[in-house]
Amino acid sequence: MLSAPISPERAGAVLTVDLAALCENWRLLNRKLSPGNDCGAVVKANAYGLGAEQVAPALHDAGCEIFYVAHLDEGIALRKILGQSPRIIVMHGANPGFEKETFRHGLIPVLSTPQQILSWRKFAEDADVLQETVVQVDTGMNRLGLSEQEFMGHMNDPERFQGLTPLALMSHLACASTPDHPLNKTQLERFISSLSVFRTKFPAAKGSLANSSGIFLGDAWHFDLTRPGAALYGIAPQDGGPNPMLPVVGLQARILQVRCVDSTETVGYGATFRAADGAKLATVSIGYADGFLRALSNAGTARLDGIAVPVAGVVSMDLLTFDVSNVAGSAAVPGAMIDIIFNTHTVDDVARNAGTIGYEILTSLGQRYARRYLPANPSGLGL
Ligand SMILES: *Cc1c(COP(=O)(O)O)cnc(C)c1O
Repeated sequence: MLSAPISPERAGAVLTVDLAALCENWRLLNRKLSPGNDCGAVVKANAYGLGAEQVAPALHDAGCEIFYVAHLDEGIALRKILGQSPRIIVMHGANPGFEKETFRHGLIPVLSTPQQILSWRKFAEDADVLQETVVQVDTGMNRLGLSEQEFMGHMNDPERFQGLTPLALMSHLACASTPDHPLNKTQLERFISSLSVFRTKFPAAKGSLANSSGIFLGDAWHFDLTRPGAALYGIAPQDGGPNPMLPVVGLQARILQVRCVDSTETVGYGATFRAADGAKLATVSIGYADGFLRALSNAGTARLDGIAVPVAGVVSMDLLTFDVSNVAGSAAVPGAMIDIIFNTHTVDDVARNAGTIGYEILTSLGQRYARRYLPANPSGLGL
């Protein structure tokens, strides 16, 4: 990690993160939920690449009181950023042996395996502490969580959940961004059934099933705690559907050089792009090392002076060339900024061109950008 911020004047590209739009997205999700629902924020992987240090406090100021991270170390770092008040839930749980650290930083572990549950129970007994936990049950994703059989085994044994203080029972949806997928209903039914069994032992336990897309499946999927990530950052919650979220991310790259070529010339490594006669090419200071994926070679587009400009040739590590033949000479000059991600060409559009999903574009965003944070509206009213 670089310690000093990168100056926008010197940087090859500028990444803009709109914290007001981020907070408005969180409020928009809240409006879809019933008043008692605790809408959290998933800020794992450095808030999907956008900077947990800026994103998490902005959401906390907007009223968010539950944060989700994947790793214990992310939780420890987030606790320093946010102070003592909000709940921080560590989705990968406490690896056996790290219960004490989890507890010491006031982090809530998600317990997904019999071993994690057993180790946590022993720790809680030995240290004589009551600390909230979340128990995860698998309902069809087959990734993390107790199997149905393991879950029932724990329920039927008076000892195995002994000494736990579960805040919630949680599960994760596999196909929530595809509303018609039959697995959504199947997982919902399994979760309802596990939750009602769980509440025979822990009547106050909350239910948590929905990620961003799950919130859009409807009220039945909401339960008590929701865990949106992607939608906060502007990613469309439903595949192929309209996107109700505000764009949060912008990216602009500076032109280093402009050249005119004729049709005998090719562009870039491997000579994969043949320029037209009299073509004008602009090279910018951004490449796959900055998260502009190599899959965007000859596939991506950007915008210069309001005009769409296609990627010409293969994306290099630090450089990328656009065909700017259609742009006026006065606009296509060294120092001018090419819009890479903007309101009508979002993270999802870039992802589509690269054959991937917005999540991967965001979490690939590089460390060499100057990062500009547009402030959240401190009144919390949203504009
Ligand atoms: C990442 C993650 C989320 C957030 O999902 P989005 O699709 O980004 O809203 C929620 N729950 C779990 C278990 C996750 O791993």
